[in-house]
Amino acid sequence: MSIATLSDIDKQADRVLMVEVNEEATYVRHHQQKLVLVLSAMRHFADELIKDGIQVDYVCMDSDANTGSFSGEIKRALQRHQCDQLVVTEPGEWRVREMMQTWQRDLGITVDIRDDNRFLCSLAEFAQWADGRKSLRMEYFYRAMRQKTGWLMDGDKPVGGEWNYDKQNRKSLPKGMTYPGRLRFEADGITRDVMQLVKTHFSDHFGDLESFAWATSREDAQRALTHFIEECLPGFGDYQDAMKSGEDFLFHALLSPYMNIGLLDPREVCEAALQALEDERAPLAAVEGFVRQIIGWREYIRGVYWLHMPVYGRSNFLEAKRPLPDFFWTAETDMNCLRETIDTTRRHAYAHHIQRLMITGNFALLTSLAPAEVEAWYLQVYADAFEWVELPNTHGMALFADGGLLASKPYAASGAYINRMSDYCSGCRFSPGEKLGEGACPFNYLYWYFLISKEKLLKSNPRMGLAYRNLFNKPGAEIDAIVKQSEQFLKTLDQSNVQP
Ligand SMILES: Cc1cc2nc3c(=O)[nH]c(=O)nc-3n(C[C@H](O)[C@H](O)[C@H](O)COP(=O)(O)OP(=O)(O)OC[C@H]3O[C@@H](n4cnc5c(N)ncnc54)[C@H](O)[C@@H]3O)c2cc1C
Ligand code: SF4
Repeated sequence: MSIATLSDIDKQADRVLMVEVNEEATYVRHHQQKLVLVLSAMRHFADELIKDGIQVDYVCMDSDANTGSFSGEIKRALQRHQCDQLVVTEPGEWRVREMMQTWQRDLGITVDIRDDNRFLCSLAEFAQWADGRKSLRMEYFYRAMRQKTGWLMDGDKPVGGEWNYDKQNRKSLPKGMTYPGRLRFEADGITRDVMQLVKTHFSDHFGDLESFAWATSREDAQRALTHFIEECLPGFGDYQDAMKSGEDFLFHALLSPYMNIGLLDPREVCEAALQALEDERAPLAAVEGFVRQIIGWREYIRGVYWLHMPVYGRSNFLEAKRPLPDFFWTAETDMNCLRETIDTTRRHAYAHHIQRLMITGNFALLTSLAPAEVEAWYLQVYADAFEWVELPNTHGMALFADGGLLASKPYAASGAYINRMSDYCSGCRFSPGEKLGEGACPFNYLYWYFLISKEKLLKSNPRMGLAYRNLFNKPGAEIDAIVKQSEQFLKTLDQSNVQP
């Protein structure tokens, strides 16, 4: 067993406790598919452990005596078994770590909280890397991780001479292109049981259940990895930032939920991509771009979270206060890009990175939605959402609520960017080419209004210089019109809180 908690298990003496608890299912109202994924994967894993001769004590969500919380279930388990030590892996959320830290005192048992060895960079190593640095830029962390792993390295130089091949990536989708599609996994008996449980207890949570197609066992997750490497990786880099109506997955991996819940180890995921490069089944730019997302972004985001919690999520640099509009739940909006992204999210508990960042994230940024409400939404609606990864991505990257700790400037964009990277605008009642007036794309005037209304907070940011120069070159009458139309839009958003 490679996970730290099980590395030295004594099959005769030790017992693995696995509990499904209501508190974890409802502290935010997770997407129905996320609940099925997590609970079914737990049940499949328990079966694997039992087949391996390990004693498992498994408490189902609907078992009568279930107290509904981790602490309550551990207390009950200690009454069932003679134990002198509790061994756990460090969790993915600050909230749960705080809970774990009370167990030794409250339950009177030694608690051993072990490092999560499924990450390549331990929290101590990250803290050491960050120590004394003025700014924590991902690119430098990524280079350190390349050196540490030796991946894509030629001695101490990057393979091919560059650390980062993004300038070869990020193309628009050519006309007539076909896409690999997602590998769908049929629900087996375990998953069907869990679907029934979710229908019974959590049917009021967001999201469709019937379109569930995630892998829930390690074996199936490995098949999803093979599918990605063979069918999608060659196109991954080129079309990483592209968006297309009706194509929910393009060349994306759909592997984050599996890595985040432990069905796949990020090392094996990267090694499979590196092997594809060696076998000339995928180009260097695609493989480098993919490996960077995992040993760069994924590890870096986790490091930032643990380095800055518990205060990280409390900042609100842009003083954003607006409540989350209802259409984030219903997808009922005339803005086609938002409708597509939210609808994909509802059907799959998934949207790819650019949809999360440049559609829903960009809208939330430009309209000053309250960070805590936006963060709660992201944590609920995505199958891969756990606070260590969701919070920095939303709070820092999408909303700039941390004032630039994670991103050097806000990811704010007008309709021109969305039009360039997608075909959404051709199916929209608004026009990305119109700047003002009834038919104008709201992202166009909201972008300038954002700069106007946040001038005091953003003008001194060196990376915002060009944007502000462009703003100050606008005639006063145009600025007045931008302000007027944006304020009208925001008023309608606040009043109806359904349809902009
Ligand atoms: C506002 C916002 C919220 C997000 N919330 C989450 C979240 O809750 N959970 C989550 O795992 N990712 C989150 N991300 C990052 C990223 O969008 C997802 O990891 C990605 O879309 C998952 O789909 P995929 O496996 O098809 O990824 P691909 O696009 O195929 O990328 C490959 C892998 O790289 C990793 N990765 C890429 N970018 C990031 C990143 N910024 N942070 C961490 N890992 C990354 C993921 O493990 C992913 O599986 C968020 C991004 C934004 C902008
Ligand atoms: S016109 Fe504007 S609102 Fe409509 S799809 Fe394009 S970017 Fe989105």
